This record gives sequence, structure tokens and C-alpha cells, in this order.
Amino acid sequence: NDTVTIIGGGLAGCEAAWQCAEQGVPVRLYEMRPVRQTPAHTTDRLAEIVCSNSFKSDEVNTAPHLLKEELRRARSLLIAIAEATRVPAGAALAIDRERFAAEVTARIAAHPRITVIREEVTRVPPEGVVIIATGPLTSDALAAEIQTLAGAERLYFYDAIAPVVDAETINYEVVFRAARYGKGGDDYLNCPLNKEQYEAFVDALLAAECVAPKAFEADKAQYFEACLPIDVAVRRGRDTLRFGPMKPVGLRDPRTGREPYAVVQLRQENLMADSYSLVGFQNSVKWGAQKALLRMIPGLEQAEFLKFGQVHRNTYVNGPKLLTPTLQVKHEPRLFFAGQISGVEGYVESLATGLVAGRWAAALVQGKPLLPVPRASAIGSLLNYVAHCENNDYQPVNITFALLPPLAEDEARVYRRRPERRARQIALALEAFEGWLRAMDAGRPSSLAGEA
Ligand code: FAD
Repeated sequence: NDTVTIIGGGLAGCEAAWQCAEQGVPVRLYEMRPVRQTPAHTTDRLAEIVCSNSFKSDEVNTAPHLLKEELRRARSLLIAIAEATRVPAGAALAIDRERFAAEVTARIAAHPRITVIREEVTRVPPEGVVIIATGPLTSDALAAEIQTLAGAERLYFYDAIAPVVDAETINYEVVFRAARYGKGGDDYLNCPLNKEQYEAFVDALLAAECVAPKAFEADKAQYFEACLPIDVAVRRGRDTLRFGPMKPVGLRDPRTGREPYAVVQLRQENLMADSYSLVGFQNSVKWGAQKALLRMIPGLEQAEFLKFGQVHRNTYVNGPKLLTPTLQVKHEPRLFFAGQISGVEGYVESLATGLVAGRWAAALVQGKPLLPVPRASAIGSLLNYVAHCENNDYQPVNITFALLPPLAEDEARVYRRRPERRARQIALALEAFEGWLRAMDAGRPSSLAGEA
């Protein structure tokens, strides 16, 4: 069977289908809309963008730019269409969502090797090469199937995400390092609040504008009690947070010798050594307001956030347990995962995993080697996180510099300033990625070269 089956015509599925077909391999692309809608999509178009219309920064020397640059060099269909349908948004690549989805739908439908089938897939096909790209809102029937495939604890439905702060922007004059009762490692930084600061924070949180929950978020018990968003918890009483995620017990501030009135704990991420998450601070406060709110926390006055707190349904597999660095299921390598369900977060990250999964699925059908993407590149770093993250509490990530390998010591001595360091990391990333592309392209059927 030389046809690749792709389930899900979202960002990852469409990019995967295009890449696979461009390698000369026929594709069957299944999309359940409009037969069955998700709680967030509203149209029948492929690659519908469900929320913000931003593909994030396209400013040189940023991690989101590097990721897009790699995709441009890999001839990404969706990035090309994003650029053709862009709307003014400063340094960001923002798109006209209607034109974007319409154009992707038309290009995919017109490809001679892609057949689009409007049908909900409820079973993982028993044979052939398959890419599962059904996204964070995978339909229930297929999610149950994936649960069986992945093992009971390996499919996550997380409702709430805590914010992540860039380590270099924390005020170390204010925060103190300590574990509760001095037990455990000293991976925590603690932001101390006095009574006035705590009360002011609670007032601001109660007043902050939150994202209105969509129908699917309001169902069931809504949240796991253990991951209750702080904006929900605070409504149960002004002191709830002080007895919950902001509990100060066992944390003595070395500068005062006393426990503060309340504390926000920052936990170092394992692979993301340059960043800290705000423990228990998942929330649905709108991003603009959230930044101002979080900057009220002592020690975070100038903080830059790599990720804001979010609340939405999210279906994704535990990559380190289930997947190889080539996005294949370890115990069933004919199956690939791509997109948000593979354990990345964000539009561009999702389509990036679709791009490489499409290339690899084609290579598998054609009997060619599946070359892993080099770790030095942005895509390689994302996949390294997906396959090797050591954090027990696995959560999908956006691309950031914290994921990229740090410069070697001798280079770090030469490139001392942050912008120079980043420029050097980007140069190394692009060089490594180009090498991978050349190696993958070397196996490309010559009759297709130049066709696009
Ligand atoms: P999707 O784009 O969701 O595509 C999956 C496709 O699979 C859908 O078209 C769906 O209809 C289809 N499908 C599902 N189940 C089946 C089935 N059984 N059979 C056939 N087809 C099926 N990221 C950002 O960068 N910015 C944001 O602002 C943002 N907002 C988000 C808001 C919400 C509510 C959610 C849930 C996610 C958001 N994300 C955002 C995260 C993520 O980047 C997007 O969800 C992104 O679209 C993921 O791409 P994907 O291809 O993995 O999934």
C-alpha cells in the first residue's frame, strides 16, 4: 500500500499532506468537518485558525522567526500562503484567516496526488502508513482509540496551563531560592508577598478580564481540582490562594528570617533551563491584562513571559513515552503523530511537525531513510523536547531559545551579549537544518525536482 493516510485537515495535516504528495506519494486526507464540528472551529475549510490570527513574531533574531525561516527553506505550503495573505501587524506575521483557509483548501484540493475525504475517523486504520493530526480537539471516538494505543496514562487532557517566565528577566535581588521546609532540590525560586501586596494582587485578579469559556470548557466539572485556574480559585474566597498555590508555609525568606505572607513559586523547567513556570498559576486572564497582573508579583516587575497561562481543552500524547524523534509511535513505527496532539503548542509549531512528518511518511513508503532533524535547529529542538523531555508533568511547548542547545563554552565566551549569542545560535540552526534538507532532498525523485 503506497498511499499515506492523514487524519485531520488542520494546520499539521494539510502541511503533511502537501509535503508527502510533493514527494510523489499519494495521500488520503480525512477531515471530519463539516460532517462533525469541533467546539472551536466554525467553518468547513481546511486549516481553519481557531483563535488569534497571529503566526507570532517574524522579527530577525527571535525564535519564532527562526522556526518560520526553517519552514520557508523547506518549502512550506502554509507559510507561503500565510505570507501571501498577511495583514499588517508590526513585526508579527498575522494573516487574514478567511483568505488563508480558503487558499489552503483550494491548493490541497487541486493537488493531483491528494484526495480529501470529509469523514470522521473513529478507528486508527489497521494498516498502512498513517499520520494522526487531529489536534487539541480530537473527536471523542478517536481520542478513546488513541488512549488505547498510547496506554492509559499517556493521553493527556489538560485544561489549564501555567505561565512561563524568561529566567533572565527575573529580579534576583527580590526572589529567594528555597524548597519547602528545606526538603527536596533547590529548583524553586520564591517571590515573597507581604499582606498589602497580596491584597492588591487579589483585587487585580478579581477585576481582570478573563477569556470567556467556550461551550466545551463549561461542560463537566470543568477543571481537575488540582489544576484549578487561579481566577476561578480566587472567587471561592480571598484567602484561597494563600492556602493554595501561594501558600508560604515552610518557606523562610533568608533576608527577613521569616515566612512571607504569601509566595509565588517558580519552578525550573528541565529541558528549558532558561525558564521558570509559575507553579499552580494556570489562569484564563486575557494575555494583555495577564502580563500586567503577573508583573505585580515581587521579583517579576520586568518579567518577560515565554508563555501565558491558558485554559482550554487539549488532547496530546506523552511524547517522551510514546514517540521517537521522528514522530513515530515507538511500538508501531508506521504510525506518526503531528501537530498539537504530538505535544507541541502553537500554529507554526503544529504545521512544522506536519511538514517533517509528511516528509518522513513519504520516505517510509519509498523505502528511504528517515533522517532525524538536527538538534541545533528550531524544529530539531522542538522534536528533541517532544521525544526526550524529562519532566514528569509533560506539557506541549512553543519554540523559544530555551529549547535550543546553548552555545559551546568557547563560543559563549566569544558571543557574550544576548543578541550576538542568539544570532550565532540562529546561524548554527540554519546551517544544520539546510544540511538535513539537502540530505532529505538527495533522495527526492528527480522527475519531481522543480515541481511545486
Ligand atoms: P487543528 O488545526 O485543530 O486541526 C485538526 C483537525 O482535525 C481539525 O480540522 C479537526 O476538525 C480534525 N479532526 C479532529 N478529529 C477528527 C477525526 N476523528 N477525524 C477526522 N478529522 C478530525 N495556537 C496559537 O498559536 N495561537 C492561538 O491563538 C491558539 N488558540 C487556540 C485556541 C483554542 C481554543 C485551541 C483548542 C487551541 C489554540 N491554539 C492556538 C493551539 C494550536 O496551535 C491550534 O489548536 C492549532 O490549530 C493546532 O494545529 P493542529 O493541526 O494540530 O490541529
